Amino acid sequence: MPLSEQMEGLLEETRRQMIICNACRYCEGYCAVWPAMELRRTFKESDILYLANLCFDCRACYYACQFAPPHQFAVNIPEIFSQIRTETYQDYSWPRLLARMVKPWPGIVDVEPLPGEPADEAGEEGAEA
Ligand code: SF4
Ligand code: SF4
Repeated sequence: MPLSEQMEGLLEETRRQMIICNACRYCEGYCAVWPAMELRRTFKESDILYLANLCFDCRACYYACQFAPPHQFAVNIPEIFSQIRTETYQDYSWPRLLARMVKPWPGIVDVEPLPGEPADEAGEEGAEA
């Protein structure tokens, strides 16, 4: 799937901040993000999506950070990770959520069962007729 211009910008900004954090490492005891980050020297898209989804937005690293705004490095990890997660939810999750939303009205909208879910009996009856 091609990346949107906004997502490209977010990934680039996250790489910039991760390089600063990897040199600093002050936050390495705060959560699982930091040891996972320290295993890497470069950050592919998949690495950044993984790290962003390890973050549970406690903001401890932001409040501890000596490079947070107004410092010119402008490091704000919870903010950039939150923006990345929002983009990925839109890319990967919303069709599933939509499917769940329309599920209570079989017959109005045909919905394929999600993987692992039993087939909709009403839909099957319609298919057999
Ligand atoms: S968030 Fe700030 S204090 Fe924490 S590792 Fe990154 S640069 Fe260092
Ligand atoms: S805001 Fe996210 S990255 Fe920062 S310490 Fe909390 S969980 Fe870890």
